[in-house]
Amino acid sequence: YFSGIDFKHSYASGPAFPKLRVLLRDEIVNISLPTEKADPKKTPKHLTPEEVNQLIDSKPEDLIILDTRNDYEWEVGAFEDAIKPPIKTFREFPEYVDDHLDDYKDKQVLMYCTGGIRCERAAAYMEAKGVAKKVYQIEGGIHRYIEKFPEGHFRGKNYVFDARIVTKVNDDILGHCLICNEANDDYTNCMNAPCNKHFICCPNCIEKFNGCCSKECVEVISSRPEQKRPEFLKADYIENPK
Ligand SMILES: [Zn+2]
Ligand SMILES: [Zn+2]
Repeated sequence: YFSGIDFKHSYASGPAFPKLRVLLRDEIVNISLPTEKADPKKTPKHLTPEEVNQLIDSKPEDLIILDTRNDYEWEVGAFEDAIKPPIKTFREFPEYVDDHLDDYKDKQVLMYCTGGIRCERAAAYMEAKGVAKKVYQIEGGIHRYIEKFPEGHFRGKNYVFDARIVTKVNDDILGHCLICNEANDDYTNCMNAPCNKHFICCPNCIEKFNGCCSKECVEVISSRPEQKRPEFLKADYIENPK
C-alpha cells in the first residue's frame, strides 16, 4: 500500500500524533463526488516549488491562486493574493467552484492545499469543468513549497491536523483573536466542552475568558465546572533539530 507514497517529514516538541492508527479508506479527504467528476487519474499538471515561483514571479495577468482548504486553515496562513473560499469542509469546495465558474473563465488557476492530497481531486474537478485556460496544482502542496521557500509567497503558518495545530513558516501573523481582534494565530477550543468552538485566542483573552470563546461560555463553566473540557495534549512545531 505504501509504495510510491511521498512521505513528508516535520518536527514536534512532543508526540503530535499520540495514537497511531492506520486505516484503509476509499478517500483520504472526503469530497463526496463520484470518481468521474473529479478523477485523480486525470488531475492537472503539478508544479514544483521552483516552477510555482517562476509562474507567480512572471506576474501573468490571468493568474488566479486558489486555496482549496477550509476557512480556519487559510485564516492563519496563505499564498499572497490567493482566493480563499469561505468553506468549512472540503465537501463544500465543489459547490464553491460551481457558484464561481465565471471567475475562472480563461484564467490560469494555481491551486494548493496542505500537502497536495485534496488538490488531486479539487484540481481535477476544476479541470473537468473546462472553463479555466490552465489548471495547476503544487506538487506536495504547501508542505513542500515552504520547505524550499520559507520566505516565499506563502505567508503565515501552515495549519496541520495534529497536536501542533500549526507549523511556523515565517514571522507573518495573519489571524486575529476572536475576542479582541489583536493579530494572533494561536488556536484553542472553548473550555466549555459542549461548545468546543475552535477559535483563535490571544494569551490575554485566554486569561480573561478562562479559555472560553464568549461570556456565555464563561458563565456556563463557572456554574458547572464539571463541564470543562479536558486539557489537550500539547506539542509545538520545532525546526529540524539536526
Ligand atoms: Zn484577544
Ligand atoms: Zn464557547
